[in-house]
Amino acid sequence: MSVITTPTAEQLREQVRGAVITAADPGYDEARAVHNGMFDRYPAAVLRAEQVADVVAGVNFARDAGLALAVRGAGHSAPGFGSCDGGLVIDLSPMRSVYVDPEAATARVGGGATWGDFNYATHAFGLATTGGIVSTTGVGGLTLGGGIGYLARPYGLSIDNLRSAQVVTADGRVLTASPDENADLFWALRGGGGNFGVVTSFEFQLHPVADVYAGIFFYELAHARDIFRFFAEFIPTAPEPYSAVPAFQIAPPLPFVPPDRVGDTFCAAIVHWAGPLSEGEQAMAPFRDIAPVVAEMAGPMPYPALNTAFDAMFPKGIRSYWKGSFVTELSDAAIDQHVIHGPRVPEVSATMHLYPINGACHRVGPEETAFAYRDATFAQIIVAAWQDPAADADRIRWVREYHQATAPYAEPGGYVNFMADDDSGRVLDNYRGNYRRLAEIKARYDPANLFQLNQNIVPLNQNIVTAS
Ligand SMILES: Cc1cc2nc3c(=O)[nH]c(=O)nc-3n(C[C@H](O)[C@H](O)[C@H](O)COP(=O)(O)OP(=O)(O)OC[C@H]3O[C@@H](n4cnc5c(N)ncnc54)[C@H](O)[C@@H]3O)c2cc1C
Repeated sequence: MSVITTPTAEQLREQVRGAVITAADPGYDEARAVHNGMFDRYPAAVLRAEQVADVVAGVNFARDAGLALAVRGAGHSAPGFGSCDGGLVIDLSPMRSVYVDPEAATARVGGGATWGDFNYATHAFGLATTGGIVSTTGVGGLTLGGGIGYLARPYGLSIDNLRSAQVVTADGRVLTASPDENADLFWALRGGGGNFGVVTSFEFQLHPVADVYAGIFFYELAHARDIFRFFAEFIPTAPEPYSAVPAFQIAPPLPFVPPDRVGDTFCAAIVHWAGPLSEGEQAMAPFRDIAPVVAEMAGPMPYPALNTAFDAMFPKGIRSYWKGSFVTELSDAAIDQHVIHGPRVPEVSATMHLYPINGACHRVGPEETAFAYRDATFAQIIVAAWQDPAADADRIRWVREYHQATAPYAEPGGYVNFMADDDSGRVLDNYRGNYRRLAEIKARYDPANLFQLNQNIVPLNQNIVTAS
């Protein structure tokens, strides 16, 4: 692996306006850190890109110096792709402006913005689009992988709302990708991850979403099978304003949880209603009928408030490991495995979620974007997050065992943004029939595989030049 010497870092500093932080500089440890505390990497330099020109300079610099290049939005990648050892990190976090055009109902957002930045800005106009369920997650990484959230059933994945992107490609060009310009690149960006360049801004379609109705319901584990069966039947035909997620959850010390039940494990339903608020209470009713509810919290709330509800469970630096897969039919055989492994959930910040991705997501064909699984009903994630390094082996084992037990009843592929560091062998499955076209487009825009610190798509028919 190449290392940037001090004079070389100086050369980069002369070309950019953003800070270039090396091990010799104060703030290096903070600058190199990503969200997942499992990854402790030491890049030669971190470029805090402030504008497109900084990104162009950074890409050219890394390419010409033969350095590994990591691109970071908000740094939430589970495999810690937002940092590297010995190479250059382009940190986009200074580029987080959000410009809303309320007439057109669109927003142009910087490549390093978080969903918190995004929702704060768009909510002022009573608008929103599909984004993640935690406000500190980056718009960039989440969108480039597909983008699953509360609004996916009514409005599609984040990529289904992407109108255009500005991209710095491996050769240092600044391109617009849209249905009319560089349409092949635009196709690949919508699900292909960070493989094709650095997106300096995204333009999204917005929708009239201001306040929403949401609820979380806890049920005794003895009813888990009934809850999962309910979801298997309900989600395929549920009205589209619904997003509802079955889960296993250790009760946190929150006011709605009876004090003597804090720390107990429950089967849970997280329910979101994006339809008229006046129908919200009625929309919660089916979830009170499945089984007796031990604890619940339900009511109207501003969409950005909902988007911060789980933030505290995932602070920066928490260790985490997860596995994902797509589920087309939630079968009884799969439910048998959930009922065995879900109740073993080891931490408050560990869970299994089945995110519904039908509704509007199914109105886009499997070949219209790089996101191939348009027939899947759920994106399953099994995630553990914990603080104590001594618990690493135990937490990882729970995730792996649960995943392996449900894998026979799931699709071979999963959502790229729910993949762990040991999932690179699943890239082909994740893209199914779209992989070859992605590899062709990769060869066109990044033939030397400069952007390889991601769920990597290998350029088709090219000799790969690695960074080391
Ligand atoms: C607490 C938590 C909650 C989550 N919730 C959801 C959820 O609700 N829905 C969902 O779909 N996913 C969710 N995810 C997964 C999330 O989509 C991925 O972790 C995603 O990679 C995060 O994007 P980021 O920009 O924060 O990550 P980073 O680590 O900064 O980047 C991840 C990858 O994307 C690339 N990348 C990021 N920004 C750009 C850019 N502007 N241009 C080019 N490449 C870029 C990077 O190179 C890297 O390969 C969650 C993750 C966490 C940790």
